[in-house]
Amino acid sequence: MAELATGPTKRGFHDASRPAAQRPSGPRVYEADSPSAAACAGRNPGHGSRVTGRAEPCGLYIHVPVCRSKCRYCGFYSVPASGVDAGRLVDGLLRESERYDGVEFCTAYIGGGSPTALPAGELLRLVCRVRERCPWAEEFTVECNPGQVDDGLLAGLRAVGVNRLSFGAQSFLAWELELLGRGHTVEQIGTTVAMARRAGFENVGLDLIFAIPGSTLADWQASLETAVGLNIEHVSAYGLSFEAGTVFNAWCQAGRLTAVEEELDRAMYEWAVERLERAGLEQYEISNFGRAGCECRHNLGYWANRPYVGIGPAAASYMVGGVGATQGGRRITNNADIERYLAAVECGRAAPAEVAVMSEDDAVCETAVLNLRRRAGIDLAEFRRRTGRDAMQTFAEPIRRYQEIGLIEVTDRAVRLTQRALPIADTILCDFSALE
Ligand code: SF4
Repeated sequence: MAELATGPTKRGFHDASRPAAQRPSGPRVYEADSPSAAACAGRNPGHGSRVTGRAEPCGLYIHVPVCRSKCRYCGFYSVPASGVDAGRLVDGLLRESERYDGVEFCTAYIGGGSPTALPAGELLRLVCRVRERCPWAEEFTVECNPGQVDDGLLAGLRAVGVNRLSFGAQSFLAWELELLGRGHTVEQIGTTVAMARRAGFENVGLDLIFAIPGSTLADWQASLETAVGLNIEHVSAYGLSFEAGTVFNAWCQAGRLTAVEEELDRAMYEWAVERLERAGLEQYEISNFGRAGCECRHNLGYWANRPYVGIGPAAASYMVGGVGATQGGRRITNNADIERYLAAVECGRAAPAEVAVMSEDDAVCETAVLNLRRRAGIDLAEFRRRTGRDAMQTFAEPIRRYQEIGLIEVTDRAVRLTQRALPIADTILCDFSALE
């Protein structure tokens, strides 16, 4: 239920917070049983990959692949918490994280799944050890589900250095929560945010979903108004889509549910942008809004296409370099199967994983696509430093074409989507996803 992982959207989904589920794969994909953990950690530069360095901040993501129950719209990998030995799972996650000793992570993010579906003692043990591993992390986020936390747990998280909470609220209408299959009530969202404040958290975010089947613009406005009234620092707002393998998808195919009209979806999105900005939550990415200084730094790392390490079943890592002498990269996605994962890491092996090798051109295109998701767009100097290419020359054709029709604007320092382009961002970004 990561803030970029709950929902799917016509505006590009959550291309980021959950790397395991999102990014396009490189051209060559193969199975590997321990592809490059040592190299990732910078302990074996001979492999040609690097994940960090003083000039290249690196994020750490830990995936807790369990939930108390499955939400009907959710296409993410998670299994029932009741069927998993939580202590063994936490041991496994910590064991895998040991492979990255020595990496200076600038942010840490524990997501899922539902980290708060773990027994409180196990979650605190995980958080404590991760904090020890990331003493330099400026931002440490834990995803929480309303109704799954209490004052003691939140005080414990704060005491060990967690400084940001992301709550999977999704809606403030009881019938929508019921339809979505969320295991909490509207009241519990407000109660949980109040608990977070009592525990000392000053950076609290909510995930919301719009375009829920049957929902009207007035419904969405009411939900958003309640969220705004809680004075939170961050909102991730995603339009619902029907993911393969979900109950919603089956219901849609059986005619039990109908997606909202595209025009309504768009009106809901535009309302979110307008209302949240009026409330002081500035849009800094297609689906993300934050008060000044409260933008999610961890996710900003994904949109900058910086390296990251993903720990846990189905988590992904991104390594810069590693393809001969080029500036391409590798995306390493852990196998989702918990038993297979634990069997490997308990023996000191790397998690079974799939490796996607990215060429230099792949990395250039992916950097452009991710950068364009930010409202700040492509910073031309940063792009050149990261890829060695001139974005204006490399993407001259799509930039010219969209600039002519007012969907892209260019300054001497940046290229970015205009406000009018945001509802159809995916279509535009497709034209940056490959070089001619
Ligand atoms: S809590 Fe619901 S939305 Fe979040 S990961 Fe679990 S099943 Fe998916």
